[in-house]
Amino acid sequence: MKIAELFGKGRPVFSCEVFPPKKETPIDSIYQTLDGLKDIHPDFISVTYGAGGTSNGNRSTQEIAALIQNRLHIPAMAHLTCLACTKGEATEILSALRDSGVENVLALRGDRNPNFPPKNDFHHASDLVAFIRRRGDFGVSAACYPESHPESPDPVSDIRYLKEKVDAGAQHLVSQLFFDNDDFYRFLERCRIAGINVPIEAGIMPVLNRSSIERMVSLCGASMPRKLTRLLARYGDHPEALRQAGLAYAVNQITDLLAAGVDGIHLYTMNNPAVARHISDNVAALRGL
Ligand code: FAD
Repeated sequence: MKIAELFGKGRPVFSCEVFPPKKETPIDSIYQTLDGLKDIHPDFISVTYGAGGTSNGNRSTQEIAALIQNRLHIPAMAHLTCLACTKGEATEILSALRDSGVENVLALRGDRNPNFPPKNDFHHASDLVAFIRRRGDFGVSAACYPESHPESPDPVSDIRYLKEKVDAGAQHLVSQLFFDNDDFYRFLERCRIAGINVPIEAGIMPVLNRSSIERMVSLCGASMPRKLTRLLARYGDHPEALRQAGLAYAVNQITDLLAAGVDGIHLYTMNNPAVARHISDNVAALRGL
């Protein structure tokens, strides 16, 4: 099933993201994560590609996506990046994905990493989107940024390039994490005014630990509303308290987004099925409406 077909069925889509285990960790360690996620019945699960230096390379992304698709029988979406593959490599990866039954790809430019020189066949995600769509047999999704991409000179250019990505064939968008829903609502409005009419999922990352959230925020440029900085100031040195407060914050964010009628929620699970379960349980009655 193509991801875009999941939308417009009268209820919001609920999806999860996992990343391949680190190099030194056996790939089997993902089984426990996936087993836990299976029980919360996500509409699809996406698998990152070399993000944050955590991956074993593209093989593990493909393997995990195939596992999700064929053993869990949940639609899988494999991430793929311009910076990490040539046209030839992209063709090989897509063939392997297709042979293993994976029908969906999230086409990205990728995060720059000084340890890995970029490949130069695709410059922008829109180039990769168009390349994959020309093959005809994949659902193609792309990333979007409620607070604009950090390299964008201004929100207008950011929306213009996003529109190019959709015009190149992206059928669904997944947002970068954000902590202030009003940023997302303003972004949705800009998209709809610009004629970007594909489903847009809101990306939610629960705040569970001060250092990891500070690292993420410095990487992606998400702003922290006062009510979140207050939580960090008060509970930042108390892991259990911060975890509880961070989970409550994520549940509140999702509750408001669902009440506002968003197309879907994409949960950055950080491979933590207990956290995903807690959040899913706390919005279970809202997911069906
Ligand atoms: P693009 O759409 O190419 O945009 C990048 C920048 O270029 C933006 O500033 C944009 O405005 C600008 N731009 C776009 N087109 C043009 C143009 N024609 N001319 C001039 N400027 C242009 N990274 C990974 O490495 N692996 C992953 O698995 C991964 N998963 C992600 C999942 C999600 C949901 C999100 C939101 C991000 C993910 N990332 C991942 C991070 C992503 O790769 C980075 O944010 C990257 O910096 C931008 O990727 P993009 O696909 O949005 O790029």
